[in-house]
Amino acid sequence: MPAAEPLLKVEELRKYFPIQKGIIPHTAAQVRAVDGVSLQVYEGEILGLVGESGCGKSTFGRLIVRLLEPTGGKIIFRGKDITHLSQTELRPLRRQMQMVFQDPYASLNPRMTVGDIVAEPMVINNLACGKELRDRVRSLLETVGLSSYHAGKYPHEFSGGQRQRIGIARALSVNPRLVICDEPVSALDVSIQAQVINLLEDLQKDFGLTLIFISHDLSVVKHISNRVAVMYLGKIVELADYRSLYSDPQHPYTRALLSAIPVPKPNSRKNRVILSGDVPSPINPPTGCRFHTRCPERKQICREQAPELKDIGAGHYVSCHLR
Ligand code: SF4
Repeated sequence: MPAAEPLLKVEELRKYFPIQKGIIPHTAAQVRAVDGVSLQVYEGEILGLVGESGCGKSTFGRLIVRLLEPTGGKIIFRGKDITHLSQTELRPLRRQMQMVFQDPYASLNPRMTVGDIVAEPMVINNLACGKELRDRVRSLLETVGLSSYHAGKYPHEFSGGQRQRIGIARALSVNPRLVICDEPVSALDVSIQAQVINLLEDLQKDFGLTLIFISHDLSVVKHISNRVAVMYLGKIVELADYRSLYSDPQHPYTRALLSAIPVPKPNSRKNRVILSGDVPSPINPPTGCRFHTRCPERKQICREQAPELKDIGAGHYVSCHLR
């Protein structure tokens, strides 16, 4: 790993959303969106976070930047426990942790010019004003592959890919240490996806950024990540260096996801693992291993005991009784 001390350390992080019912509202159940996630992110790396929709990966991203309040666990950023900091205490840290959202149109204010959108975080954080601010906006737009004359235009005048570039420029404007990209290319055409991924990769190298790249698509994450974490029903089930995860996946869920990636060679044979059943509800997750209702390898113990996420060598972690 690039550094001994992690930039971000997450310990047993949980987020339960209460479901209120009744004339006198009371908590009837809880959606366990994130349920005991622990991981570390090192300076300068790109960590891919993958899983089906509803597995809790986006909630995890929002918890890290404290857009959501955690139900339990710890978030340690640059050695400081930020789990329970107040909004005022968080303000100086917000600069260092930025998010790029899935829907670039919804996340950009349609009444503001692109120049104002990119400038806004710098103004709020008193980083620049006047000519310096305008120069910085121009330079950021050029960094993300746009032109300085775009500063006077509005978000609706841009394509989806260009809007995502604006979102990236806004995130970079405050020189963050950590950028969380939540499905940044899912809303884009395939041809544009590659451009945005390449841009993120270049920016990571040029600025030494640390990225958490959240996606439902393992093939997208493969091209950009140093390490990949696979999430299922609110828990990490496998975490490894990208080479190891793609060439030697250990968890049956990861194997199923990988087998579903289409191969470009029509004649090559691939054993597709078809998972039976739907993803269980996070309101009432299965006992034991959460994947046992769909796992082709399940044993009796899988129904009874939850497996630990354990290191099987060389930083490859897997949560399965059979490994
Ligand atoms: Fe499948 Fe059992 Fe492993 Fe869970 S613990 S992934 S059910 S074999």
